[in-house]
Amino acid sequence: MTETLESLFEPIRARIAAATDEDELRKIERETLDKGGTVAALLAAIPSLPGPKRPLAGKRANELKNAIGAALAEARERLARLAMERERTGAGFDPTLPGARISRGGLHPLVAVTRELEDLFTSMGYVVLDGPEIETDYHNFEALNIPRDHPARDMQDTFRLDLEGKLVLRTHTSAVQARGLKRLADEIRAGRFAPPFRAIVPGKVFRQETTDASHEHTFHQMEGLVVGKDVSVGHLIGAMKTLLRGVFGREIEIRLRPGYFPFVEPGFELDARCPFCKEGCSVCKRSTWIELLPCGLVHPNVLQECGIDPEHWSGFAFGLGLSRLVMLRYGIDDVRLLLSGDLRFLEQF
Ligand SMILES: [Zn+2]
Repeated sequence: MTETLESLFEPIRARIAAATDEDELRKIERETLDKGGTVAALLAAIPSLPGPKRPLAGKRANELKNAIGAALAEARERLARLAMERERTGAGFDPTLPGARISRGGLHPLVAVTRELEDLFTSMGYVVLDGPEIETDYHNFEALNIPRDHPARDMQDTFRLDLEGKLVLRTHTSAVQARGLKRLADEIRAGRFAPPFRAIVPGKVFRQETTDASHEHTFHQMEGLVVGKDVSVGHLIGAMKTLLRGVFGREIEIRLRPGYFPFVEPGFELDARCPFCKEGCSVCKRSTWIELLPCGLVHPNVLQECGIDPEHWSGFAFGLGLSRLVMLRYGIDDVRLLLSGDLRFLEQF
């Protein structure tokens, strides 16, 4: 048995000495030291030896294990020294080898579509407004004709940030409308206002909702607001058609249905003809129409509240679901993917 062990080590030692890279060493290590390797097989054979020989055989098996381990360590050191030497002298450097690949980033589909829309709208004379995501109850609700205890508050499940309910995570980008209108009122009072006033507000909004493929607690909207003399539903329809042409690259048929939203009067639901089918598909739920956005003429109460005389001025507003539009554009079937941070998803764009 002792002889067997010595004779077992010699070929292993020779293989280790001849190894030229880590892969080879690792292979030898697997075949000898790992589970199911040479040493393990020897240890497993010990119980079948006659009693007196067992202690010595065990000792030798351990010695073999240590010898292999030491030889491997020595070989790794030798390889490391060689590598360092090669690096120092430049020998073995191959300038034709491809370099390490740096993975490139790209625009998130939400950002890409937002930028496109910003370009489109600024080309039509709109300004891009920004507002706080933590908003006062006043701007998010009251200034928009949704007083406390108004049933419309139940339409939006709100994240409240304090016990008095004064601060909320904004539930819609319409919250910025009130801020924009108040600034506009200052301009009008100062005699600086040259109508019309046109603004879009892209941004994140929040709802306390159970999430599923079509609901997410955080999503993106883009508010649009136009105020001027005799602004009508016709202007609104024109702007919406331009918007859809920009997004889908061709003319898209639209229709307006009456809809109730406290901050517009009259209010509409705007539907767009499904861009994916002619006879109905899963996206349009077989109806060939897709519910796209609520819109309408700004409610006189909202203008009044913000200091703008509704007798002289009128306007329209729309609340585009940006997340939804991005999903439509790219055929994404689960809204949660957008903010998942999942690279497998993001790398497709
Ligand atoms: Zn369809």
